[in-house]
Amino acid sequence: MTKPSSKYAVLIASGGMDSTVTAYELRARGSEVSLLSFDYGQRHRTELDHLGKIAERLGVPHQSVDLTDVGRLLGGSALTDASVEVPDGHYSDQSMRSTVVPNRNMIMLSIAAGVAVSRGADIVAFGAHAGDHPIYPDCRPTFFEQLGKAVQAGNEGFLADGFRLEAPFLHLTKADIARRGHELGVPFELTWSCYKGGSVHCGTCGTCVERREAFTLASVADPTEYADRAEPEASR
Ligand SMILES: [Zn+2]
Repeated sequence: MTKPSSKYAVLIASGGMDSTVTAYELRARGSEVSLLSFDYGQRHRTELDHLGKIAERLGVPHQSVDLTDVGRLLGGSALTDASVEVPDGHYSDQSMRSTVVPNRNMIMLSIAAGVAVSRGADIVAFGAHAGDHPIYPDCRPTFFEQLGKAVQAGNEGFLADGFRLEAPFLHLTKADIARRGHELGVPFELTWSCYKGGSVHCGTCGTCVERREAFTLASVADPTEYADRAEPEASR
């Protein structure tokens, strides 16, 4: 964790653990942070209410972008299409492919990059981690490297010094994120992961299973209320 400190980061934030710990990490590195979230009609849009509380706790600005019209065009994903059920099981199960929203991170990062360039920010940040790689192609290192180059080329002459895309946890696990968040004093109780978007975390969908497993592996107390407290089989 000895990256150079930056001046100003625009962070894509969801109200989940990964982007919240990323916000605390960037701040710990001496960066001013501004949160950008996206309403793409996700089933679990309750995450955005959680994000509002996190922004308040951090004392940083938060702006939400309405992409509901775009989300309506991205059918077939369990996150945006009410006719597709959110699968239970482990986050890395092939069944989780139904939770991929086509080209989502490209769309969000593209907008965030535009915002960052217009504000003279030197970092566009995203909270992807190694556990995302098996299922989500737009969370993989290759995607970030190539998008970083495209943003550089597409904004040549208009970028702040040292401008870069940054995903500080890209090669780390969710358990590493839980551990780092604990060190940084992240209020995990304010974060939301569940794809089903009920009033409490379901405890059995892929992202709930992943969340529970991360806290266990990191030996960090999990403050989350789960509807199903039974230890999921898939988390072995
Ligand atoms: Zn869940």
